[in-house]
Amino acid sequence: MDLRMKACDIRTDIVEIIHRAGTGHIGGDLSVTDILVDLYYKQMNVAPDKAADRERDRFVLSKGHSVEALYAVLADRGFFPKEDLLTYAQPGSKYIGHPNNKVNGIEMNTGSLGHGLSVGVGMALAGRMDKKKYRVYVVLGDGEMEEGSVWEAVTAGGHYKLDNLTAFVDRNRLQISGPTEEIMTQDKQEDRWAAFGWNVLSIPGNDIEAVDDAVELAKHIKNKPTVIIANTTKGCGVSFMENQVGWHHRVPTDQEYEQAIQELAQRRMQYAQDSE
Ligand SMILES: [Mg+2]
Repeated sequence: MDLRMKACDIRTDIVEIIHRAGTGHIGGDLSVTDILVDLYYKQMNVAPDKAADRERDRFVLSKGHSVEALYAVLADRGFFPKEDLLTYAQPGSKYIGHPNNKVNGIEMNTGSLGHGLSVGVGMALAGRMDKKKYRVYVVLGDGEMEEGSVWEAVTAGGHYKLDNLTAFVDRNRLQISGPTEEIMTQDKQEDRWAAFGWNVLSIPGNDIEAVDDAVELAKHIKNKPTVIIANTTKGCGVSFMENQVGWHHRVPTDQEYEQAIQELAQRRMQYAQDSE
């Protein structure tokens, strides 16, 4: 299947999960979807029955509040039954509002921001020490880049020249309380990472082919970790949610839900026609 169509399906699942549960972080879910789809359907060596395989690629969603996107992908890939998500955010469910490693396929509990890249650095170092071929992928939010601890991990990643590590910054230019540039400037984000010894790629992050090209390129870079600055749109794919800070964690009304589902269905139909 055309991965753009798969991304429409995942976005539809995200909208459904959040509308049904009445909670979630829809804006960041929709901005990060294309990255997850490329990794989980094309690039990463992961499979439901190999969740503890020592050779598997590692994935850490450091911007853990976007867990609904990860749940949608993991369920669709068969890591757990889709029906399990009916319990999402219900008392007693393991499908909670942030990643939790009781769920098959989730490596690390995240959502307290600023920790994922440090653990990713550790996973990459361990892979090198154990002479494993696996790669490590970590997705950070751009608001998360304001956490000082991220920069300790950036320092270590560059210091140890971890070419088995790829980080993404979901650069949607919004965070919970407003535009990132107003809250804490991230001017020259690319130059900052480069100064710490990283290979830097800056791409349109909702263009799944561009995401795939960047991930592929990163695999061939030696002696440096790669960061992919994914310039995305928060709320991507649903017109009235795009670039609107309130959709960080608003829940669609029934009417908004219907409109969102229709828009995603139309977009999917266009892609289906393109690929005929
Ligand atoms: Mg953001």
